[in-house]
Amino acid sequence: DSKDGGAPPPAYQHYNTTTPLQHGRKANATIVMLARNGDLDGIVVSMKQMEDRFNKKFNYPYIFLNEMDFSEEFKTRVSGLTDSPVQFGLIPHDDWYQPAWIDETRASAARADMVEHKVIYGGSVSYRNMCRFNSGFFYRHELLKPFKYYWRVEPDIKYFCDLDYDPFLVMQDENKVYGFTLSLFEYEATIPTLWNTVKEFTNSNPGLLPPGNAMDFLSDDGGETYNRCHFWSNFEIGDLDFWRGEAYSKFFDFLDEKGGFYYERWGDAPVHSIGAALFAKKEQIHFFNDIGYRHEPFQHCPQGVAHAKGKCWCDQKQNFDYEWYSCLNKYEALFKS
Ligand code: GDP
Ligand code: MN
Repeated sequence: DSKDGGAPPPAYQHYNTTTPLQHGRKANATIVMLARNGDLDGIVVSMKQMEDRFNKKFNYPYIFLNEMDFSEEFKTRVSGLTDSPVQFGLIPHDDWYQPAWIDETRASAARADMVEHKVIYGGSVSYRNMCRFNSGFFYRHELLKPFKYYWRVEPDIKYFCDLDYDPFLVMQDENKVYGFTLSLFEYEATIPTLWNTVKEFTNSNPGLLPPGNAMDFLSDDGGETYNRCHFWSNFEIGDLDFWRGEAYSKFFDFLDEKGGFYYERWGDAPVHSIGAALFAKKEQIHFFNDIGYRHEPFQHCPQGVAHAKGKCWCDQKQNFDYEWYSCLNKYEALFKS
């Protein structure tokens, strides 16, 4: 529980929004939502807040993706919430469904084992499809090709504060590749062999890791073991070209070939986080302190001056940042030594 509600945020969290540089400029960016037709009620909640807190001033387009056709009702209700362009994309079959080369006997045994051990989404194939798609395919979708930056939005989230600057321009002007609001520990049971797979990859591709990366966010012993910290990927503002680049592309392909998205339940959050932390410089990972955000059951509520500036409606005392299960302190420690 944070006691310093009145203290200004650390300097690295500041972005000078009065700079004339932002005025009239726009980034090459889109808002992206992966959703099912059945997610519609939660999607409109999220989208209305996106518009009210931010996007009605900035007018970035929306892209909705689904492995099935969106219903007419879905398209109509969503399109009615914004003046911005809205596009609906079908995910190519092979980018979504479990590949034929996955050993289904082994995969189903793994699912049964996770159900028995009550691992969240442990028995779900569709959840695994979703994690694999978000890890390695969404940024290659035809509709995303023209864009460099994206903001990922999920159903039923909350944005607590008015945003009076363009976070995409922060990414662009400061050469950031990944932005987050919440970070936490991953469930060990979903990723038993992930870190060994990561080490196998980095040992054979040492040149892909830049000096000054964020390895210390992921590991407390210089890379030997994974501390399970990850950025929570239901919120992401990121650089699509970073995912499309050589390092992350090779990394994803290597992970995918191991089959851990199906033989275990590797999440897109640890996969993205490990990719960003290893293949970017630590300064390229940005904590969006000003963006008050909730995805059940956690929230980031800006403190002090940031709370006032954004006219945030969250209770400052309800803030995950320094709870025991948060990894924000490990992120901040990157910049203290
Ligand atoms: P959680 O946040 O990990 O509990 O998972 P969610 O149920 O919120 O799913 C994550 C994101 O993927 C959300 O944007 C969902 O709408 C989307 N999603 C999950 N499963 C599917 C699916 O089978 N098909 C599609 N099209 N979207 C999905
Ligand atoms: Mn969710």
